[in-house]
Amino acid sequence: MPQGKIVKALSGFYYVQDAARYIQCRARGVFRLNKVNPLVGDEVIYQAENDKEGYLLEVLDRKNELVRPPISNVDQAILVFSAVEPGFSPTLLDRFLVLIEANDIEPIIVISKMDLINSEKVKLEVLDFAKDYEAIGYKVLLTSTVETTGIEELSPYLDGRISVFAGQSGVGKSSLLNVLRPELELKTDHISSHLGRGKHTTRHVELIPVGSGFVADTPGFSSLDFTDIEAEELSYCFPEMRERSGNCKFRGCTHVKEPKCAVKDALEKGEIANYRYEHYLTFLEEIKDRKPRY
Ligand code: GDP
Ligand code: ZN
Repeated sequence: MPQGKIVKALSGFYYVQDAARYIQCRARGVFRLNKVNPLVGDEVIYQAENDKEGYLLEVLDRKNELVRPPISNVDQAILVFSAVEPGFSPTLLDRFLVLIEANDIEPIIVISKMDLINSEKVKLEVLDFAKDYEAIGYKVLLTSTVETTGIEELSPYLDGRISVFAGQSGVGKSSLLNVLRPELELKTDHISSHLGRGKHTTRHVELIPVGSGFVADTPGFSSLDFTDIEAEELSYCFPEMRERSGNCKFRGCTHVKEPKCAVKDALEKGEIANYRYEHYLTFLEEIKDRKPRY
């Protein structure tokens, strides 16, 4: 039986893409019995009845599963943060990064609108942040869709993977996607109505082929609370803490007041950026203050 990827779900139909065909499938009763709800992004085994129609037989195990947008097997998130308009916010970036790390998704940080920077001071600040995040191990790309810089660097990262764009409204997500997929230009309205400005439109997700990969046409991680993250897990979402926590004296060290803490040592030596640690403390308080869920 052939295997493909669900690239679109609409009105009870699942649109499956593989090397051979793009086919409209229905889910058979077995899915209802097993309570499996097929998602865009799923790898499925299907049976073709003819060239255009078939049905799903099985959903293969998922690597991960996002709720908003409803999509599975996301490999990476392209986190778009503008250098200006709106100004670069490391606090918001760290929120996104924590959620992405917690979902086992690889982040790529894109600092957009580089052409709009008109002061040396702002430029140096942005470059300093880029350096900090690179030192942690993140890939950081500086882009401008007006001068089309940084785009060539970004496109190979999309190959062979499912990517989700994330970031505030107005940072340039649709613009980037349009430059990456110029052949979609005709359908720009379609994309921009989903990307960023799509709150009022019908909620369906579609994977758009870009190079040899797929990009979700709806931005991810609209909700930025830490509902599913426990206090003990939080430091694992900060790679520079994660890699040091094994050297803390106490197992389960929260890196706040415990003695002989490798994270605090690194902080004092300036190996961990103060603002990253501050954000960690803020998020930790937020998680601890969370009302119990019933
Ligand atoms: P989205 O809401 O994240 O999808 O953002 P858009 O792609 O709709 O962009 C918001 C605004 O910023 C639009 O007016 C774009 O033309 C503009 N914009 C996006 N990227 C750039 C860029 O790299 N340089 C400049 N100068 N403007 C940009
Ligand atoms: Zn510690």
